[in-house]
Amino acid sequence: MTEMSPEAMKTRELSRGGMLLEKTPLESYVPPAMPSLIGLSRAELMEKLAEVGVAPHQRKMRAQQLWHWMYVRGAQSFDEMSNVSKDMRAELAKHFTVARPEIVAEQVSSDGTRKWLLRLPSGHASERPHEVECVYIPETDRGTLCVSSQVGCTLNCSFCHTGTQRLVRNLTAGEIVGQVMIARDRLNDWVDRETPNGNRLVTNVVMMGMGEPLYNFDNVKAAMEIASDGDGLSLSKRRITLSTSGVVPEIPRWGEEADTMLAISLHATNDALRDELVPLNRKYPIAELLDACRNYPGASNARRITFEYVMLKGVNDSLDDAKLLVKLLKGIPAKINLIPFNPWPGSQYECSNWDQIEKFSEYVFNAGYSSPVRTPRGRDILAACGQLKSETEKLSARERQALRAMAMTD
Ligand code: SAH
Ligand code: SF4
Repeated sequence: MTEMSPEAMKTRELSRGGMLLEKTPLESYVPPAMPSLIGLSRAELMEKLAEVGVAPHQRKMRAQQLWHWMYVRGAQSFDEMSNVSKDMRAELAKHFTVARPEIVAEQVSSDGTRKWLLRLPSGHASERPHEVECVYIPETDRGTLCVSSQVGCTLNCSFCHTGTQRLVRNLTAGEIVGQVMIARDRLNDWVDRETPNGNRLVTNVVMMGMGEPLYNFDNVKAAMEIASDGDGLSLSKRRITLSTSGVVPEIPRWGEEADTMLAISLHATNDALRDELVPLNRKYPIAELLDACRNYPGASNARRITFEYVMLKGVNDSLDDAKLLVKLLKGIPAKINLIPFNPWPGSQYECSNWDQIEKFSEYVFNAGYSSPVRTPRGRDILAACGQLKSETEKLSARERQALRAMAMTD
């Protein structure tokens, strides 16, 4: 594992002591010499076609063809685009690619969960590559893809592994929607002759991987526009959920401009505790966060806001907490998602006991809330919530062993 630098240690200590709200500067991003067309809007795609000399009257039709090949058929090279002329294909290949982020590892869990480690270009040649993870979780009635929005995260939630990572940068729109495409590639989930309208394996997207998506608003929005485009990847916005730790000013804007489902990482029922667990709470306390939820455009009983609540033993899991939670959410069309805490090496919390989680869940259920307990998935491959951390900050063999042991105890 990479030795932790003194600054990193300081960052950790400060966050433990409850001092540090956010880590500072984001790393730079330098696009590759041959840019990928993945992630551009239709208008941007037409601009690129203009740059390589496509006549104005042809641009719209050409962009439409490319869009279909990229997002319906999943073409990985211009060569596959059989209805585009040979000359045109050659010209495009001179300037662009349709590359997704590079897959450096694929792990399949005993429960079918799959995790991909993806390598992205870094700012400088001498710099370590930037890496993120993307996780596919198959269930009987759906397949959910958990997508990352940043390398690491500038926020320092005290129970989250990603928050301990120092290196942070925003992903581009192409790197975000590219994760959906990688899942379709690897799961053989593109439309073909046999399955023109067939069932897809990836049916839902949750922005719950690494990073705070509302801190990368424009790129996440552009990526979700492409993911939900009816002539392309075709995921309905009702099957896309953005999870935020509570960037209050961006919540109404997200609702108005992107209009996906919303999940809030609440985790505590009073400000003193939430300040500790989710330090961003010091900037945007619970009352302001819940007001933003009350006013979230499009929220209704049919389109409920999910409140995520991580179960931490002896910290936020008492029946009094459950009562307060129900009281706080009064008047908001809400679902509650209880997440058993997923431990990671060096974490200072333990997961609540199962009987406590059940009691908590029962109270919330009797108060009229659907309150599924999120089954931990892919723990053997470190794919569960909050365990994501890029391999560049690798675990030592001892840490891996400790983690496996923890995952097997409950
Ligand atoms: N940054 C966004 C989205 C990514 S985190 C957010 O915080 O909402 C996705 C979910 O996993 C959040 O609810 C987060 O609080 C939760 N989480 C983080 N670490 C966890 C851990 N170790 N165990 C269980 N859930 C965790
Ligand atoms: Fe960032 Fe979300 Fe982890 Fe908090 S829980 S550190 S916001 S990824």
